[in-house]
Amino acid sequence: MALRIARHGRGWQVRPSDILRVGPGFDLGGFDTSATPGFDGGKAAGEAAIATLGGRLSELQEKLYAESRAGGSRAVLLVLQGMDTSGKGGISRHVLGMVDPQGVQVRSFGVPTPEERRHHYLWRIRRALPRAGRIGVFDRSHYEDVLVVRVDGLVDGDPWLERYREIERFERQTEEAGITVVKCALMISPDEQLARLAERLERPEKFWKYNPSDIDARERWDDYMHAYQDVFDHTSTPSAPWHVIPADRKWYARLAVTQLLVDTLTDMNPSWPPPGFDVSAERARLGALLTERADADREPPASRRKGRRKGR
Ligand code: ADP
Repeated sequence: MALRIARHGRGWQVRPSDILRVGPGFDLGGFDTSATPGFDGGKAAGEAAIATLGGRLSELQEKLYAESRAGGSRAVLLVLQGMDTSGKGGISRHVLGMVDPQGVQVRSFGVPTPEERRHHYLWRIRRALPRAGRIGVFDRSHYEDVLVVRVDGLVDGDPWLERYREIERFERQTEEAGITVVKCALMISPDEQLARLAERLERPEKFWKYNPSDIDARERWDDYMHAYQDVFDHTSTPSAPWHVIPADRKWYARLAVTQLLVDTLTDMNPSWPPPGFDVSAERARLGALLTERADADREPPASRRKGRRKGR
């Protein structure tokens, strides 16, 4: 236990990937969305931990990027799912905002466009996969095609088991291509969602975030929870498990996702690429230039010397 605390910094008692990962018999019905599993501190300690982890996350991503510049093909894909107002956007802003923007690729998936509709549902997803060296973020994802599409009855028949297998295969191929998939579902309670929706209607600067259809989805809460449970049961695999994150406390959800990303990248162990040049030869060349420059600075400029002579 002490080793784990030392490894994850003050506050974490258990590695979040262990405590938040969907295991056999996982039951969403008994899930406490206001808990802070594995972390023994409160909001202040959580926010302090996020700030510390931000530096580490940024450094790890830079290493991954450097590795890709030397021919590496690895990347990370963070898949975010959750009901409206669960905080998916906040994760992109607050967690990935700590990383060099050039190293992050955020993509949101809404109602498919006419062009997207003409293709298989994984078409738009494959095109959005992160390039080597980046952390990709999917704000909603291919899972919408077994969540909203199922709850709203947007396709005929009962293709869900077939889609789960298809998704599993797709994620395996993605991993084989060097992209580590980190799947996080942010779960809030209906009461918390109500409070967040009400807040959006209170202030003009939040109106743009409010969508009247959010209320319709809310009315089908139980259907959504049933669809989520099936997703967790059928698509949590050893190489791409689901992490179900209590998200009533925004700071905890952000901390958990940050730690999951840091742990994932730490396990990937990216390394600075070796130089493609002779370091000592380059240092010697640069040293010679610096000496030349220092000598020139010590010498009074020829023009000034001339001027002084004239004035005498
Ligand atoms: P958000 O609610 O994430 O801030 P939007 O307001 O653009 O973003 O909403 C996106 C909407 O698109 C959500 O209601 C979501 O359920 C819906 N959506 C996403 N993917 C699909 C899909 N494949 N089919 C139908 N609707 C989808």
